[in-house]
Amino acid sequence: MTKLSQILLILFTAMTLVAETCSYCNKRIEPGQKYFNYNNKIFCSKSCIIKTRPHCATCGKQALNMINYMGKYFCSDQCAKYLAPTCDWCHKSLYQKKFFTENNKRYCSRECLAHVQPPCSICGRRTLEYSTYLNQRYCPNCIKLPRCNSCTRPCHPLRLHDGRLICRKCKITGIRDSETANSIFKEVKNILSTKYNIATSDKIKFHLVDVNQLKKIDHEYNPNERGLYTHEAYTTYIESVPGHKEILSQKRKMNIYILSFLSKDMFREVAAHELMHNWQALYYPQIKDLAIKEGLAEFTASIINKYYGKPSRNRRMMHNSDQIYGDGYRQIYKASHGKGIPGVKQWLKDNY
Ligand SMILES: [Zn+2]
Ligand SMILES: [Zn+2]
Ligand SMILES: [Zn+2]
Ligand SMILES: [Zn+2]
Ligand SMILES: [Zn+2]
Ligand SMILES: [Zn+2]
Repeated sequence: MTKLSQILLILFTAMTLVAETCSYCNKRIEPGQKYFNYNNKIFCSKSCIIKTRPHCATCGKQALNMINYMGKYFCSDQCAKYLAPTCDWCHKSLYQKKFFTENNKRYCSRECLAHVQPPCSICGRRTLEYSTYLNQRYCPNCIKLPRCNSCTRPCHPLRLHDGRLICRKCKITGIRDSETANSIFKEVKNILSTKYNIATSDKIKFHLVDVNQLKKIDHEYNPNERGLYTHEAYTTYIESVPGHKEILSQKRKMNIYILSFLSKDMFREVAAHELMHNWQALYYPQIKDLAIKEGLAEFTASIINKYYGKPSRNRRMMHNSDQIYGDGYRQIYKASHGKGIPGVKQWLKDNY
């Protein structure tokens, strides 16, 4: 901000007979002689006043009207401008201008400030307005792009053989071979069992599938679906005495299907989700409420995300407007009382 100290000079004529002296040069001011009163001091001339003024911070000159700018005195606008700060991007002078400050740097305009923002992770454009999704930054245009069916990020999608639209990254790095998929699946299964005491059946068969295969198994397939758990129980009876049935054997078929081309993070999330469906079917088969079932599965997926250091993935669940998945997750999250899986287990014990 600039402060201009404008000095008003009033010219007096000495009337009294008492002799006055110039407070700068000590010259006597005779009656009838003109003099100046400045700051309650008497001066014989303008040039004597000027000699009491501060020196210009740029050129050293003294002037009657000095500009006080950022704690320094300047003789003129040019001199003030010379030492004024400049925009850290375009180097234009910020003299007498409003400016933006960020990270102790100054910028003359929103455009210059935008230049120092991190780039959009799709188009590279640097903008002040942006959205963050799964820890990445997107400009206002790119956030509106179609979402990758695998990683759910906005993208310029490519089409897979089964019709899915996915991003280039998932097309290249998504999990597509059964061996890799199997080992990640086993890892998640093992972590759930050893770290969280969610022991699932060893008889689960895991399958890496595409959408065409998934549609054949799940007749209610929807495009948001990335995994499926199926559980079939077979009971064989024996009738040794007519009219009296006895159970001979009970068999279960348990399958987990996960879509190919998922990112590693997404695959782990889906694996944890489907594995929880198995645990619930084994220990709490009486639960029929879909929101509770999916809420338990989503909550377990969120625990796995946290385990792998990806808690930001859980924002999707927290903000999911779906009445089964979103509401279910929030209900289980609340029921956990911040105590994670043990909290949820306690809630299950108390309620089922
Ligand atoms: Zn004087
Ligand atoms: Zn100057
Ligand atoms: Zn600038
Ligand atoms: Zn962009
Ligand atoms: Zn993707
Ligand atoms: Zn589910």
